[in-house]
This record gives sequence, C-alpha cells and structure tokens, in this order.
Amino acid sequence: MGRIDFARAALLPDPEVQRSTFVTIAFMDPPDLDAEALLDGKALLDEQARERYSRQILFPGIGAEGQKALLGSRVVIVGCGALGSFHAAALARAGVGRMTIIDRDYVEPSNLQRQWLFEESDAAEALPKAAAAERRLQRLNSSVCVRGVIADLTAANAAELLGGCDLILDGTDNFETRYLINDFAVSRAIPWIYGAAVGSYGLAMPVFPGRSACLRCVYPEPPGGAQPTCETAGVLNVITSMVASCQVADALKLLSGHGHEVEPRITRVDLWNGGMRQTAAPPRDPDCPACARREFIYLEETRRAPIMLCGRNAVQIDGRDGERPSHLDLEGLKARLQALGEVRANEFALRFRVAPYEMTVFADGRAIIKGTSDPGMARSLYAKYVGG
Ligand SMILES: [Zn+2]
Repeated sequence: MGRIDFARAALLPDPEVQRSTFVTIAFMDPPDLDAEALLDGKALLDEQARERYSRQILFPGIGAEGQKALLGSRVVIVGCGALGSFHAAALARAGVGRMTIIDRDYVEPSNLQRQWLFEESDAAEALPKAAAAERRLQRLNSSVCVRGVIADLTAANAAELLGGCDLILDGTDNFETRYLINDFAVSRAIPWIYGAAVGSYGLAMPVFPGRSACLRCVYPEPPGGAQPTCETAGVLNVITSMVASCQVADALKLLSGHGHEVEPRITRVDLWNGGMRQTAAPPRDPDCPACARREFIYLEETRRAPIMLCGRNAVQIDGRDGERPSHLDLEGLKARLQALGEVRANEFALRFRVAPYEMTVFADGRAIIKGTSDPGMARSLYAKYVGG
C-alpha cells in the first residue's frame, strides 16, 4: 500500500482571511419535539416525509427503514468551505435529522466560485460561514435541526462539539485539525470520512475505528513543510463537489444502517487530467500510535496551541511537527506567495504581507502573525498561506 499523496491534496478550500474576532456561538435553539421523537426512534415516517423523501425511499439501498435511520442521525461537519457546504446541503436534503456545522471563517467573494451554500449577499455582509450555512439550510429543509458553530475546533472543545454524533465529516483545510478529528474519532469509536481537494485533484477515505485503518495507520505523522493550498495553487469547483459526493455517499450508506457495506477504500480523482482510482482499504498498523497504542497526542490541549503575544497584536503559531523538525522550503513558498502579496525571504525566514496582516514564517515551520490577537484567525491565515 503506497502512502496517500498528501502533498498534492494537502488542503481543502477555504480558510479565508477574517475581519473580526472569532467567537464560539451556538446559533440553534434546542431541537423541537418532533426531532426528539425521531431521535428516540418513536416517530414513524409521516405522509409528508414519505412524499418528500420518496425518491430516496424508492432507492433499494435506503428504503423506508433507511430513511427513518437518516432522520434519527446526528452528524458533525468540520469546516464549511467547498466540501463542508456540499456535505451540509446534501445531508439536509437527504433528511439527516441533526447536523452541527463548525467553521471559524467568514464568507468572502473568493469563496463563491465553489462554496455551494453561499451567496453574494453572504459575502457582502461577511457573514460567518456557520451562520450563513445554518440560515440557508433551514430554508432548504426546515424539518431538520442545524446548528452552526463559529469556532476553531481544538483539543479543548472537541469533546463538546464532536461528542455524541454518529459520524464526523471532514471539510477542513489543514492537517492539524484532521489529526485531531482522527484522535477524537478513534478514542470514541466514531466513524469519520477524510476528504481533501486542491487544483483538479482530490481524495476521500472513510475511517471506521476498530475496523479499518485510521489516518495515522496510513500516514503516522502529518506531512512536513509547506503544502499547496487552494489559495496558492487554485482549485476547480467540480473537484470539490466530486470529493464531497464520495464522502456523502459513504455517509448516507452508513447513516441509513448499511455501514458494514461501506468499503474503507481510498478514492483518488483528477477531474482535469483524467482518472478516478480506488485502492483497496489500507491495512491497519498493529503498532499505530492512535488506534493500536491509543496514544492520542492531538487531544492534548497544550499541543501546538497558538500563543498570543501580549501587547503586540500578534499570535505565534507553532507549525512544527511535535515529533520531528519541519523544514520549510522558504524559496518555494516565496514563489507561490509572490502573486498574492509582498514577500521577502532569506534562508532563515520569510515575510509576507497581505493587508492588514503580516506573517513571518521561519524555516522550522513556526510563524508570527501580526495584525490579529485571535488564535483562530492566526491558524486560518497559516493554513491558507503556508498549509499544513
Ligand atoms: Zn491507526
């Protein structure tokens, strides 16, 4: 089994630069009684639901029982960029009963090319993606419960935001969050589905803790160095929907009660240069630090936490991998960033100015981001321009 080509599919769209402070807000009111009844398995499909979901009920893979299971499901979508907004729209239309959508960013004009839920007015108002998504999803399907959470998923809030769900969908843009999701999911035996796209290429892989390889079985450590991102390498809108569709298909199978039928294969797609390839499920690593040894280092709250630099309106990001030194190719990073803003680099550090921020990135992966005191914003900028 070859390793996943992470370098090509490093980051998802779309951590955009933020304009104001990040806060954690839960928008949703408590779920209504009907939803509670559904979640308890007490409700049957009423006539309205039978009509609404009739084409799905007719589909033999789902049927009436599968539809009831979907209505009773709880899903968390981490990241509401191109992948996450597609997941959310598809699952809301399919009647997934409860969804939590976690995102730390705001809608910007450059999102609209591929982030299916958002409109020009969302960008004009710079609405938080989680809030814009919640509003739109309620219009798409008012009978499901959607909770938008404006937050940066961290070790500190993972249990609160991810706990108790049936499935986690990866719509993130960075490896740090994916390894955190993996640790949490493995520790609680919750399935999750990896997805990533950049350029015209993308991949998806479901993880069933205890049954299939986890992310760390396949790739024990996050890739070191700067990674291509949608901001620096661009992205075709259709590759994001393709990857998200692969994830949602497995999600529907799993949530409708057919999880045992989901093959944990790796799907790789390139929509420009051609080709879709599925490889057999990678083997579990009997010495995997996460699913075998159960060492969940990404759940340690102090790990690589951004540090606010007092009185400087700046945040330090520790982009280094905890267990090995990173060596960023600063010249390569400079070449990618040149089109986007003023950039200078020597062998030790790179300085990149994109108003109103200034990032100083060191060869070991560390960065100081000036112009914000918000760790979530700093992480977002790092993920967007450096990757990783
Ligand atoms: Zn593992």
